[in-house]
Amino acid sequence: MGFGLCMCIRVNQKISESEMKRALGQLKRKLPGQVQTDLAARELASMDNLRISILPDAVIKVQKAEDVGVVLKLANKYRIPVTARGAGSSATGSAVPVCSGWVLDVSLLKTIELNQYSKIVSVGPGVLTDVLQTKMARYGLFYPPDPSSKKYSTIGGNIACNAGGMHCVKYGVTRDYVLGLEGYLANGAFVEWGLPLKKFVSGLNLRDLWIGSEGTLGVVTKAHLKLIPLPEKRWMGMFAFKNEKSALACVSRLLKAGILPSMCEFLDRQSVDCAERLTGRSIFEGTSSVSLLIIELDGSADQIRKQKKLLLEITQKTVLDFVEAKTEEASETILKVRRLCSQAMYSIADTKLNEDVVVPIERQHDLIRYTLELKKEIGLATPTFGHAGDGNLHVHIMYNRSSANERKRAKKGIVKLMKYVVSLGGSITGEHGIGLAKVPFMELQHSKEAIEAMRSVKNALDPKGILNPGKIFHPFEVWDYETVDKKMPWDH
Ligand SMILES: Cc1cc2nc3c(=O)[nH]c(=O)nc-3n(C[C@H](O)[C@H](O)[C@H](O)COP(=O)(O)OP(=O)(O)OC[C@H]3O[C@@H](n4cnc5c(N)ncnc54)[C@H](O)[C@@H]3O)c2cc1C
Repeated sequence: MGFGLCMCIRVNQKISESEMKRALGQLKRKLPGQVQTDLAARELASMDNLRISILPDAVIKVQKAEDVGVVLKLANKYRIPVTARGAGSSATGSAVPVCSGWVLDVSLLKTIELNQYSKIVSVGPGVLTDVLQTKMARYGLFYPPDPSSKKYSTIGGNIACNAGGMHCVKYGVTRDYVLGLEGYLANGAFVEWGLPLKKFVSGLNLRDLWIGSEGTLGVVTKAHLKLIPLPEKRWMGMFAFKNEKSALACVSRLLKAGILPSMCEFLDRQSVDCAERLTGRSIFEGTSSVSLLIIELDGSADQIRKQKKLLLEITQKTVLDFVEAKTEEASETILKVRRLCSQAMYSIADTKLNEDVVVPIERQHDLIRYTLELKKEIGLATPTFGHAGDGNLHVHIMYNRSSANERKRAKKGIVKLMKYVVSLGGSITGEHGIGLAKVPFMELQHSKEAIEAMRSVKNALDPKGILNPGKIFHPFEVWDYETVDKKMPWDH
């Protein structure tokens, strides 16, 4: 058992069974029909994409924002752990109710109000990212943050994780679009951090503390989001290179030349090999086992034409082959290659440690070289792909969870990887956050003083430690936990 659960004992120490029951009884009376205690509902809310499952005592599906305040007031009074939940697609276990208690499901809070003058949209936390993007596109407006999970993930979850995605290279991450937040503190008090205004600098900026805080500082019930004009046109190309060095050198060159792609995705040969083995076909006919770049340009037809010309000049010396997509459908076909590579990795082993490290753009090839050294050293595959325009690469370590020996080697690999990333001046996470999975590496990234300052903020905003306890600060060895073999909505 990880130390995380010891911490939960501290949170729960004042709760007796009878108090737990009394609190639940009061909750059911205050929010009739919204509290679920049946096993099926508790199981559904027990895990996220990390697939470690810990049953909560109850799941509350709130129907309006004020209900969040009702839940938190009671939970705070009785010191009951509360884990906010959107779609449960978190990659780090941040949505797992590791200390049991109550799961506060906000996925039904789905209002969308657009102000067409200011181009600010105010949304409930349960709105799906993709639904918001599609609705705003009808007004010629663009909400760019686009985690690959966007068809499933919620805006609340995106804010709590400060989610990134493929368009970040040009448009930035979730934080860059959040103008204001409404929500509830741990004690159930309603707060507003900013308003639906383009400018607001009054008081301390607690909005930015909440963004990326993984539900440990408060619960978001409304977000005021900035929109930008929808790009007029898009163009996409997929380029094959002999190896990773050649592909990543091309990324450095095109960024240095001033090309600002709206997407710049990289796939190493291990990832491509998985897909090619699975389908029995080469992605580019006649050249198998290549490293790939998927590059999208957007803007006016003229901007795209100029950038594309420069891009093709830069790539022509080293590219083996390329295809271009002139329509949305053709772009989708290219993007399917990336998705296929991700899924095909499961043909190597049944479990992946999916890291989302960031290194300086010009050091990405050093990282790839290191993943290949690790592969040899630990004897496990290390397929890597990701957002090369941001230096944010998803390094996977593939292992079979039934093998204690493979688990041990995976752990060794991940610890070494994280140390190497930090030594390059990089980050242990660029978009998934800490949750449970990255806890062992917090001290690699941050000084003791910095972590102490973070704890002080947590203690000030949540003195009883009820909000998403057991996360970020409390030692947890993800490898010691069994994962559940369950098909999730995003598994294809
Ligand atoms: C296939 C797949 C692809 C992915 N691709 C990406 C990617 O490209 N980029 C990326 O950044 N992430 C990616 N992710 C990770 C994940 O989808 C994101 O972290 C997403 O933001 C989580 O949203 P969610 O609604 O599922 O939140 P959940 O998983 O439900 O919750 C995540 C965290 O947010 C907290 N939370 C949820 N709602 C609230 C709220 N209203 N107030 C306060 N806290 C709240 C939870 O307590 C938890 O700590 C991917 C995941 C999958 C499964």
